[in-house]
Amino acid sequence: MVRTRFAPSPTGFLHIGGARTALFAWAYARHHGGTFILRIEDTDVERSTPEATQAILDGMRWLGLDPDEGPFYQMQRMDRYREVIAKMLVEGTAYHCWCTKEELETMRAEQEALGMKPRYDGRWRPEPGKVLPPPPEGVKPVVRFRNPLDGGTAWNDTVKGPIAFDNAELDDLIIARSDGTPTYNFCVVVDDWDMRITHVIRGDDHVNNTPRQINILRALGAPVPEYGHLPMIHGPDGQKLSKRHGAVSVMQYDEDGYLPEAIVNYLARLGWSHGDDEVFTRAQFVQWFDGRHISRSPSRFDFDKLSWLNNHYLKQAADAELARMVAPRLERAGVSLAGEGPDLAAVCALLKERAQTLNELADLAHMFYGDHDPDAIAPADRDKHLTAPAREAVAGLSQRLAALEASHWTAAGISAALRDTLGAYGLKLPQLAIPVRLLVFGVAQTPSVDAMLAAMPKAWVLARLARWPG
Ligand code: GLU
Repeated sequence: MVRTRFAPSPTGFLHIGGARTALFAWAYARHHGGTFILRIEDTDVERSTPEATQAILDGMRWLGLDPDEGPFYQMQRMDRYREVIAKMLVEGTAYHCWCTKEELETMRAEQEALGMKPRYDGRWRPEPGKVLPPPPEGVKPVVRFRNPLDGGTAWNDTVKGPIAFDNAELDDLIIARSDGTPTYNFCVVVDDWDMRITHVIRGDDHVNNTPRQINILRALGAPVPEYGHLPMIHGPDGQKLSKRHGAVSVMQYDEDGYLPEAIVNYLARLGWSHGDDEVFTRAQFVQWFDGRHISRSPSRFDFDKLSWLNNHYLKQAADAELARMVAPRLERAGVSLAGEGPDLAAVCALLKERAQTLNELADLAHMFYGDHDPDAIAPADRDKHLTAPAREAVAGLSQRLAALEASHWTAAGISAALRDTLGAYGLKLPQLAIPVRLLVFGVAQTPSVDAMLAAMPKAWVLARLARWPG
């Protein structure tokens, strides 16, 4: 049974990199009919905040990455970590070290002076036949892991392939500080063990932690999971992803009008591929994501592609669903949707083609609800399009529209009235359509004018057509 986990530290929001890690861990579990676990690694009490935890939970919910188990909180598992440390001390896989800070600093300085890589010299490490001095008074010891001294630690990384470290390079890691609190690498190990994690999928900034974690797992007699380390995400310029590149909270994408489907599709392709497929559903991703075809090199964040995908998902979305998401954005901009105005779903249907985000859609939808004072029309547009013949034709169109029965207030019915008017006044379509657009929508360019008018209540259209700049 496959069991994966996402283990964020709640020191900030869920950003794009974390969301991609979560998505891959989630999809891998779903692909195998396994279990996806959420674990909040909140032991860094200085930097962890409840707001950040909430932001992570919100981001995951928004993306539809629901855990099967959890969230678990490391701060609630302290007793368990202490219990394992006590057991290791008894079994001899861990030991007390009474080195003071000053001693460690001297050790480090001496090693550096000799051109050595600084490391703990093992002075409190028990060995057969070695006599340790009595513990100094007044010093609270740390607990160190008794790392193997020789041989190596290797694993076949599911992303990066075989990776090996010499054990001699790994220090005797501190697993409990002098105040008794367990350290980061140790908590991860106990959790992965207790939560029976079979596949660890995480960022490759953790590669150096993996051999240490594997050695501790082995010392505990715990099974060692598979590890897959995902390469970083870079900005379009190849630099580390920063705010400027979109390394902002995933909830900012919600705010900016991106659809979770688009983000999920985009993130899935960020460092993973399935042939030439660019657009696929969440279900397809789960079906295809077997842990292979993950790129070994960093991916580049591409805003244009994300916008393109978002436009794709906007076009796919049901109009009523779009209306539900656009409504609060319009209301925030002061548009009242309570009255007898245009049907927002119909408006979205007309405009979604041209919008890359829900915010852009809301901006475009604005033209259906505004009052559009004819005196506000730009003088250039006025001189060019609102001519005396146009005024007569608009009046003629208004009469024909007024005569239309409610059942003919459709794009086809309005189109017939437009054509009839053009014939009667000897004009070409733009000579009438542009003045109508300026008067009704306040802009010279819109999608097809008959469909635009059909989406607006007849009374609104007639009222706007009746006004001409003074
Ligand atoms: N808490 C770690 C982080 O936020 C992840 C640890 C792990 O996945 O093992 O980077």
